[in-house]
Amino acid sequence: MTACAIIVLGQNSVILALQIKTVLLNATIYGLAERTSNVDVSFTNFGETLRELFAKGTPIIGICAAGILIRTLAPIISDKRQEPPVLAVAEDGSAVVPLLGGLQGVNDLARQIAAVLEVKAAITTTGDIRFHTALLAPPPGYHLANPDDAKKFISDLLAGATVKLEGTAPWLINSKLPFDGNAKLTIRITEYEVPLTPDCLVYHPATLAIGISNAAKISLEDAISCIQQMLTDARLSIFSIAGVFALDEEAAESVIEEIADALSVPVRWFNSQSEKNAVAIALTATGASGKLLLQQESGINLAVAVSDEVIDINTIGKARGQLFIVGTGPGAANWMSPEVKQILSQATDLVGYSFYLDLAGTLREGQRRHEFDNREELARAEMALDLAAEGRIVAVVSSGDPGIYAMAAAVFEVLDCNFQPKWQSIKIHVAPGISAIQAAAARIGAPIGHDFCVISLSDILKPWSIIERRIIAAAEADFAIAFYNPASKQRTSQLASAREILLRYRSPQTIVVLARNVGRVGESIVVRTLADLSPQEVDMRTLVLIGSSKTRTVPHPGGVWVYTPRTY
Ligand code: SAH
Repeated sequence: MTACAIIVLGQNSVILALQIKTVLLNATIYGLAERTSNVDVSFTNFGETLRELFAKGTPIIGICAAGILIRTLAPIISDKRQEPPVLAVAEDGSAVVPLLGGLQGVNDLARQIAAVLEVKAAITTTGDIRFHTALLAPPPGYHLANPDDAKKFISDLLAGATVKLEGTAPWLINSKLPFDGNAKLTIRITEYEVPLTPDCLVYHPATLAIGISNAAKISLEDAISCIQQMLTDARLSIFSIAGVFALDEEAAESVIEEIADALSVPVRWFNSQSEKNAVAIALTATGASGKLLLQQESGINLAVAVSDEVIDINTIGKARGQLFIVGTGPGAANWMSPEVKQILSQATDLVGYSFYLDLAGTLREGQRRHEFDNREELARAEMALDLAAEGRIVAVVSSGDPGIYAMAAAVFEVLDCNFQPKWQSIKIHVAPGISAIQAAAARIGAPIGHDFCVISLSDILKPWSIIERRIIAAAEADFAIAFYNPASKQRTSQLASAREILLRYRSPQTIVVLARNVGRVGESIVVRTLADLSPQEVDMRTLVLIGSSKTRTVPHPGGVWVYTPRTY
């Protein structure tokens, strides 16, 4: 199921939301702005947010009255088959009420939540209560071929009809369906295409594996038409395909993922030591009971094998590793982008400097944290890539923006200079954050309203002579300048030297802003001039902003605004 949204309208409900999140690990907590804190996403417009989530098919758990959810969603409820699960949970956790999304498993979701809250889910679906199973919403691994016939089928059962089972369906063993070998109604489990009739519900089990090799020689269109043809010839249902399987050395061949997308199934990767042909790959995926059904001869490297049992895709091969390089913003959660919050909640592994990982928030269950010292960037980038190559979802965490004096460049440097073939398969995504310069500027007004540049004063990774040349050039060109890394416990002389250079080109009255711990506990923002800038006031948690010759102050009752006009 796609990740759920838990909607909270008041701070009291946040604890309940966190409790629900312990069983729905990927859930995102949406909190009403100004009424809630420490949530994943803040929203201001309840109706819009809810309708948007619903339209995107996100399962919705509202910690609020059922009536509010019903009234808000009523105008857009139209298609029972498409609607995501929607359920209401009482603020005190005493009731869990499934409202919509019966076909998408709302009752199971309600039972799951009710179990953590130690209450009984308020299930109202008659068939579900009577038979202890939802024939319309089979578990993952089974596809109901004729849902249109199900309504009449279920009402016949409720009216007293019996049913026989053809094929194996472990999920029905504990149900209370009235089984009878001579029944007129049938539940049939088969990977074959069969004629659909109202007295037989047909479920296609996910027992087929498609193996692909030599993907470079395959086009999407050829592959899909070839798979369709193979299945049609054998009368097999496309809905029984469990997944597409290939070797991870081919993961960069985007056609493999495109084929899987077109079939709406996942891809799982085997490591490259495995045999390199499609037949062997399909047979590995189907395990001990696997039988080769079909193999395409005409030059395309595709094979289909069938297993006796539903293929549990999560236990075979590995998912494509993902490496997210995220920036958490300067500090406070409300300056972290929703995208980054989402990635942090999904990641299996967080990699970063311990101080930044602390800022990123608490871990959820099962998440691993890999801390390192601020200076071991390249080694850690390598480790993050190795973790992702194992199929894990890795988030490399920087403060501010990950592309500004942070981990993104380290990852690409390692990829460029130290490339290892196993990294080929990794999907890399950089998620931006608010950088210290933007946060500092926003606090004091608009000091970078016109041309500006940023310079790091750290001479650990680059020689001071280059830094010096850049300061001179920026001073001459009259840029506003932001100095990142102006000082540390070991580096104390750089800012004094920078000030000396600047004074050769700029007036002593040039405005300077010292922004320390912006967005974090202990924030301080002070305005100075170049003449009275004292390096003692500056440490590694400070950003130093030097105004251009145009930068000015505007007084306000508590102090001054600093801005650089856009007009000359
Ligand atoms: N990627 C980060 C920058 C990392 S370099 C970003 O985009 O913000 C580290 C330097 O950034 C620090 O020495 C300091 O100069 C500045 N910095 C980072 N966070 C800051 C904050 N919250 N307040 C003030 N300066 C900050």
